[in-house]
Amino acid sequence: MTHDYNIAFAGGPFDHAETRRDVATLQTYLKNKNATAILMTDGKPAIAPDGALFRVHPSAMKGRNIFDPGPVFLGMDSKKPLFAFNVKVDIQSPARPGEAFENLRGIAGRLSAKDLAIAGRAKSLFDWHKTHSFCAQCGKKTMAYEGGVKRICPECQQEHFPRVNPVVIMLVEHGDQVLLGRGATWPEGAYSALAGFVSPGETMEEAVRREVWEETGVNISDARYVMSQPWPFPSQIMVGMTCRAENKKLTINTKEIETARWFDRKTVRAVFDKTSEEFLIPPRYAIAHQLLRWWLDQDG
Ligand SMILES: [Zn+2]
Repeated sequence: MTHDYNIAFAGGPFDHAETRRDVATLQTYLKNKNATAILMTDGKPAIAPDGALFRVHPSAMKGRNIFDPGPVFLGMDSKKPLFAFNVKVDIQSPARPGEAFENLRGIAGRLSAKDLAIAGRAKSLFDWHKTHSFCAQCGKKTMAYEGGVKRICPECQQEHFPRVNPVVIMLVEHGDQVLLGRGATWPEGAYSALAGFVSPGETMEEAVRREVWEETGVNISDARYVMSQPWPFPSQIMVGMTCRAENKKLTINTKEIETARWFDRKTVRAVFDKTSEEFLIPPRYAIAHQLLRWWLDQDG
């Protein structure tokens, strides 16, 4: 059976309105009667009692304690302007009735796909603003522009854009087996796909080859793209790949991972079918889960 691969944090509104972000247009959007805003604090979105993202009209944020950069314009959601506010919530300014700020990972399995994508995009942008309030070139304070999709340094005029960091995450196949690893701090029995940041000067395929070799001593070939996932912790693009192992012998680099193991398809399928507890699979909202489902589907 072939599944749909539901990629968590993907599927948000596609119109980011990149060319409609001048000050006058943004003011019009903020006042638009159909505009909505989501709220976030410390990377946690406000959830309404019905389980969806809590939404207000931007005008309802008047008088509230808002962090830099003020309203972030996420784009158009079904032609309606959509904003996000990073609000300060503490004893002096507590959450209002109906707003329940919840950990994004904790609600990843409950929020609708679209809401999860919206919250993830907002979180990545707020995290970027928080760590880029000073110019990386001259050290002076930067200011947000265009509804929060860039910052400019008033001193040296350098423009700064939100970063997305590519990470390769890969299944290493050998015949009917797949190589999975585990980190030292992971829950007991948990295994997942090997992964690592792409380094300057290499392709995705080369990053796969280097990371697999560094972590396990396995040489690979035929690295290929399968699927990708935005990962808002804080702002990665997880590039899901597959590749073929040329040798099976493992030389584990314990500075990188605790261990790695070969699993045959039958074992992985049994764990997914819940007829075996041989190991703990990655959560559904992680791309590694979807990559493994994809691998199981390759067997016809
Ligand atoms: Zn500067």
